[in-house]
Amino acid sequence: MEDEVSTAEAIRLYRSRRANTVARWNNVYRMWQEGKTLAEIGKWIGKSESTVRQLLKRAALEKQKSPGFVWPVDKAGRKICDIPHPMPSNEDPRQWFHIRAFALTPTRTPNTSSTRQFCPVCKKGFMLGKTLMEILT
Ligand SMILES: [Zn+2]
Repeated sequence: MEDEVSTAEAIRLYRSRRANTVARWNNVYRMWQEGKTLAEIGKWIGKSESTVRQLLKRAALEKQKSPGFVWPVDKAGRKICDIPHPMPSNEDPRQWFHIRAFALTPTRTPNTSSTRQFCPVCKKGFMLGKTLMEILT
C-alpha cells in the first residue's frame, strides 16, 4: 500500500516538475522573442547566459516537435537565424534573416554597395550587396 502511494506521489511530482520545466522554457522563449538579451533574461531568472542559451534551445526543440510547427520568418518572408533556430550549415546565409548579425567593414566598389555582415549565432560572415541597378532605381 505504501508503495502505491509513493508511486502516485512520484508520478505527481514528476508531472508537476515537467510542467514547471516547460513553463520555464516558454517563459524564457517569450522574453527572447520580446527582444531581451541573454544577459537580461539571465538576470531575470537568476541564471547565467549559457544556461539561458540552453533553455532557449530546449524550448525551441520542444516547439519544433509540436504539430504544425512553422519555422519563424521575418516580414520579408526570410527564415530567421537566431539562437533557438540556428541556420543549417548547408544553407546560403544571404537567404536568411540573422537577427544578431552586425556590419563589419562597409566596402564600396563601382558596381556594388556591399556590407559585410557577421552573424554570431551561425558564425557566418557574408556580404549583403546591392547591384548598381538597385541603387539607382
Ligand atoms: Zn546566422
